[in-house]
Amino acid sequence: MNLDWEVLLADCVDFARRLIQTPSMPFEEAAIAEVVAAECHKLGFDEVWIDAIGNVNGRIHGTDPSLGALVLNTHLDHVDPGEPSLWSAPPYSGEVRHGRLIGRGACDIKGPLAVQVYSMAALRRAGIRPHRDVVFTGVVQEEIGGAGAEFWVQNLDYPVDLVILGEPSDNQIALGHRGIIQMWLTFHGRSVHASVPEQAQNPNYALAAFLQKLETAQSQLKSHPILGPTTVAPTIIEVDTKSTNVTPAWARVLLDFRTAVESSNSLQTFVHQLAGAWPHDISDAWCAPNTPFADSDAPIFGFYTAPDDAKAVRVQEILGTAVGHEVPFTRYQFATDGRHFVPYHLTMIGYAASEENQAHVVDESISLAKMAESLRGHVALLREF
Ligand SMILES: [Zn+2]
Repeated sequence: MNLDWEVLLADCVDFARRLIQTPSMPFEEAAIAEVVAAECHKLGFDEVWIDAIGNVNGRIHGTDPSLGALVLNTHLDHVDPGEPSLWSAPPYSGEVRHGRLIGRGACDIKGPLAVQVYSMAALRRAGIRPHRDVVFTGVVQEEIGGAGAEFWVQNLDYPVDLVILGEPSDNQIALGHRGIIQMWLTFHGRSVHASVPEQAQNPNYALAAFLQKLETAQSQLKSHPILGPTTVAPTIIEVDTKSTNVTPAWARVLLDFRTAVESSNSLQTFVHQLAGAWPHDISDAWCAPNTPFADSDAPIFGFYTAPDDAKAVRVQEILGTAVGHEVPFTRYQFATDGRHFVPYHLTMIGYAASEENQAHVVDESISLAKMAESLRGHVALLREF
């Protein structure tokens, strides 16, 4: 392949730096969408467009129009850098130090975004047409729920054979992640003056007893062989009263479950059993993806592609040959926009150079050596998949 890999990496890193230097908090992605669109034009993409919600898209045509597209999906937004003085370099400077590019979004998501765009640019530079169309999609608002991804998939008007999610996977192949279900557990009691607590039924005691049991009992919940164990985190605790001398009529806790195998029904059964005989109810759940909360035995998960799926196997073969060592399957700990594509039956894998533990941290960074390997992996996928 007639391609100068060193120049490709240098140009890719330079692009990633310019992306870091263009802050793009949710709802403020217009400027970075223009930067990406201009780069795609400059690099000779066949089509470049920004859709109605602000997602930026770029396409390189394949030689065989009968094949579904290979989509490189990523997002444009990032989380707030927080207190800038905690950073060793200004968060929007894009400094390179000890072989790593540092800055807000370096790992999540501007380093991987740059690799996706420059792997497509590599084909143009080498004068190679892929078999199938390759489409880059940089969507808005991933960090606050995924409206950009939902808009993209709802308006999809071309066949898609595989989506590669550019979320941090340390150059391994992420096969999915767990789903989220959150529910309020409310204990009811009798509210009285705090001077006569013996006349109360104080739900704080029931809540405390529940939480004591919860930490160890979660090990009874089922585990997925690849996506991992079911976990639960009690997050918010509330009571009905704001008065300091009144015992509460109710006390409630928000339970955040992450699972790939448990269902709404099985988790509610688990909670009811732990809550015991004290009067209580479960309500107001939020679930992602949009699995019905009440009375469903369907397992809750984010997205999942089985390790023996033909496309996943093919990706693993291509990547292994391209980078010269076996590329293992893995899973994401966090949630991604991939969950929005599940109802549309798109096959997805995650593949990106950055490390998951670098996401959303101070001094967030990405390894240039891993970007180089990821460019080789992506270019091979674009050519051969
Ligand atoms: Zn991300």
